[in-house]
Amino acid sequence: MKQTNADSRSRAQQMLLDAGIKPSFQRLRILNFIMDSHVHPAAEEIFQNLRPEIPTLSRTTVYNTLNLLVEKGLLLPLTISEHETRYDPNVQTDHSHFFCHRCGRIIDIHQVPACVAGEELEGHLVENVRLYLTGICRECREKAAH
Ligand SMILES: [Zn+2]
Ligand SMILES: [Zn+2]
Repeated sequence: MKQTNADSRSRAQQMLLDAGIKPSFQRLRILNFIMDSHVHPAAEEIFQNLRPEIPTLSRTTVYNTLNLLVEKGLLLPLTISEHETRYDPNVQTDHSHFFCHRCGRIIDIHQVPACVAGEELEGHLVENVRLYLTGICRECREKAAH
């Protein structure tokens, strides 16, 4: 477990350096938190989770860091929830997103068939397909069934 944390910490540091961003402690922890989270967190969630550990952290720092990371291509902003922007650290693998309107998690979906990738639609060439799917996730459905 410790090993994994150390690994993802040094990976985050390398990602920042590669993007030409100074890896300050706060930036490192913000990127790390998003990479370790599997729900595509929003700015407020990041702030609330890191504040106990970093008392000097401000909302402004979180927002500025997120904007910087998006600008440098390390994070993908998701607007699948109309209330808030969520952040995805997985910018390399083509995948779609499923938003559960019960628990609010955003789950990666890899099984959506890219049926129109490479095809022409009304004269436009489709290069990749990323869908925003919404509904009730597996865990919430299982909970409801009991
Ligand atoms: Zn759910
Ligand atoms: Zn994702």
